[in-house]
Amino acid sequence: MRTRLVLAVLFAACSSDSKAPESKPESKPESKADSNADPKHVPMKMVWTPPPPMTLAQSGIVPGWIDPSADPCKDFFAYACGGFTKTAEIPPDRSSWGAIELVTKDNEDFLHRVLEGAAAKPSGDPVLDKIGGYYAACMDEAAIEKAGTAPIKSLLEAIAKVTDASSAAQAIAMLHSEGITPFFALAPQQDFRDATQVIAGLDQSGLGLPDRKYYLEDTGTMPKTRTHYREHMVRMVRLLGDGAKARAIADNAFRIETALARLQQDEVVRRDPHAVYHRVDRVGLEKTAPSFPWGDYLETLGIGSVTAINVNDPKYYTEVAKLLGTETPAVLRDYLEWTVLRESADRLSKPWVDESFTMQKELSGIKELPPRWRRCVHRVDNDLGELLAQSYVVERFAGDSKARAVELTKAVLAAMRVELDKLPWMDEPTRGPAKQKLEKMAYLVGFPDKWRKYEFEIARTDYAKNVQAATKWEIARQLAKIGKPVDRFDWQMTPPTVNAYYDPTLNELALPAGQLQAPFFGAKFHPAVNFGSTGGGTIGHEMTHGFDDEGSQFDADGNLRDWWTKSTKDKFTAATKCVVDQYSRYEAVPGVKLDGKLTAGENIADNGGVKLGYEAYKAWRDQQQPAPAQQVEGFSDDQLYFLAYGQSWCEKTTPQLLEMMAHSNPHSPARWRVDGVIVNQPGFGPAFKCAAGAPMNPGKPCRVW
Ligand SMILES: [Zn+2]
Repeated sequence: MRTRLVLAVLFAACSSDSKAPESKPESKPESKADSNADPKHVPMKMVWTPPPPMTLAQSGIVPGWIDPSADPCKDFFAYACGGFTKTAEIPPDRSSWGAIELVTKDNEDFLHRVLEGAAAKPSGDPVLDKIGGYYAACMDEAAIEKAGTAPIKSLLEAIAKVTDASSAAQAIAMLHSEGITPFFALAPQQDFRDATQVIAGLDQSGLGLPDRKYYLEDTGTMPKTRTHYREHMVRMVRLLGDGAKARAIADNAFRIETALARLQQDEVVRRDPHAVYHRVDRVGLEKTAPSFPWGDYLETLGIGSVTAINVNDPKYYTEVAKLLGTETPAVLRDYLEWTVLRESADRLSKPWVDESFTMQKELSGIKELPPRWRRCVHRVDNDLGELLAQSYVVERFAGDSKARAVELTKAVLAAMRVELDKLPWMDEPTRGPAKQKLEKMAYLVGFPDKWRKYEFEIARTDYAKNVQAATKWEIARQLAKIGKPVDRFDWQMTPPTVNAYYDPTLNELALPAGQLQAPFFGAKFHPAVNFGSTGGGTIGHEMTHGFDDEGSQFDADGNLRDWWTKSTKDKFTAATKCVVDQYSRYEAVPGVKLDGKLTAGENIADNGGVKLGYEAYKAWRDQQQPAPAQQVEGFSDDQLYFLAYGQSWCEKTTPQLLEMMAHSNPHSPARWRVDGVIVNQPGFGPAFKCAAGAPMNPGKPCRVW
């Protein structure tokens, strides 16, 4: 899920929640990072009008998803979502199905219509013609079949020239410039110690399995997955036509990946920003791995003059350079060739796509390859996202959508401000910088003010060439940031993305339009529903990331700086440990527990977000004349709030995906994102009249924020 510096992502493979576009923008989208600099700002009036009498369905709650036979005080997820989980089937071409996926599907269908229309015939509109051409080439299966492995021929030829460590380094640089990242990867990053500067950042890379653990541990289905992976490698190499040598090549590549897995940092270790921050100059870089030709490498990437580099873990590069010197050139060629096959398969012909899919099947439990159009929609979103998004936001984020989302954001910020003032465990010397951090927290809402231009040629008949051009253009765009001032308005997700993020080095959160859609957010929903799923579940969640186990280590300006007093830090650490221990007791699937440390940041954000959203709703409600309806079909507005949050996580997920996420993903499964949060909410017990000591009102909550 994108660079590790972006902490936020709400959802699974980091997905957060909802939708899709088309026509022309008339409400001027002022998507600039609204600075939240006015500490006195108290939202007096939301842009939405007081809701008239409404049904439960009109309020934004899905009545059919509720299971009235379940007891909300015993298992709130079962109550809020049982009607859904008992009847829903996961479509064969997906690995989960629920609220997020429904919004995602709606987006995909919308974008599909836009792209089919744009691809049908050139219109003279440069944006539509570009996305239409890209999509048409992606859909041209006949041309893709005919091309066979031609698109990767030049890469394989370059790899064949590797005869020693030095030529291996040249091949690595060439592959990195094509977006293929054996051994490690280079990308721009803000300097942790001076967030105004963009420097180069080196990070570990080069594994084909979802986490280093898969090479080294035997938990759950890991051994089976490993065996499948090795056979999959053999079959992929065979597709190149070298049947006799395929097994040897695959074995060598697997051995290198295993060696890298041993050398790489564990994801829990990487949650500590200090563990991944070691800024060096060129002399320092040479020292980490003197035998690696760094000058040539950087030159090949077009950044030969770069002088400031963050190295996530210096000894990793020392060891990689040793590996390059001790392995035979033939073994290095095998590993590089495998990496090219693995990372290029999805742009090649059907046998490659199908074989690559066997691995997805194994890991995620998905049964059928998604239809080509859907894969192509995602490809266009990935490669030309801010062109594709233009019609999306006109259609799906029109009118006062943005103003409403901004107001909601301001209401949650105001609640956090009140919270920071009264937090009992925080001492005054820490409270000052904490409040300053909140006041400087910026937010992007909906979509960018200025659309990105994609300055490369597109061929309607050559898909692989388009992907290559898009990849190279994006790499060049990224590398050009090094040495320049930080652009706070450069979005890290596309507008139709059903997700959101917080970036600690920018102290900024972003809420793409795709997340601000029904059933998560609606102009005519009961305000308690908007506050529950979006105010708490999304905005409060992202805001809390600024203060979670990782985010709390960065200051108001995005610098890695310890602004905590020791005594307050100790209390924060103890509160965090409570959350770690709580979630460590939960199982993802029978026999596989959650990693409480890996998921700590997301769990803190979920818990803090829902609490903040609730406080924000009550403060907002108290200011309304007339107040919103306090009863909807027998549900109080407080109940609607929690129900909306719970239903935003209604989801069925394959056991395979649940297990893979438990091993490698910082987010907890949907069920625990609901029940794990609810047991810690002071407002929930009273809202549902749960007796003290009931499973969902246990009386010993974990509370960080
Ligand atoms: Zn998050």
